[in-house]
Amino acid sequence: MTDCIFCKIIKGEIHSTHVYRDEQVTAIRDINPAAPTHILILPNRHIDSVNMLTNEDEQLIGHLFTTAKQLAALEGIADGGYRLIMNTGADAGQTIFHVHLHLLGGAPM
Ligand code: AMP
Ligand code: ZN
Repeated sequence: MTDCIFCKIIKGEIHSTHVYRDEQVTAIRDINPAAPTHILILPNRHIDSVNMLTNEDEQLIGHLFTTAKQLAALEGIADGGYRLIMNTGADAGQTIFHVHLHLLGGAPM
């Protein structure tokens, strides 16, 4: 997707604060954090939203969650607790149509 901001971040065409990357996912710090830790975990491959997922994406979506778990531990918020959110569609407040898992924590919510 040539006009997708997260695809551009994944390709390194737009700067962001990267916290993790592997063959399947990239994790960045949210530019407008809603909690002391606010990380976005993105599949490296463009998928508009949960509405576009197929059975072939099930391992990838699982990997978003295990990556979130590992990053929560690295951030020191695993024991305190954290929130994982995936907004889907306009009514949910999805503003960037490239699947992303929000990892939020570091303070009571
Ligand atoms: P959503 O509302 O679920 O689509 O979330 C999109 C998130 O992306 C918001 O929390 C934004 O603050 C965040 N965001 C937008 N642009 C950037 C960017 N260039 N780098 C990092 N995070 C961003
Ligand atoms: Zn994209």
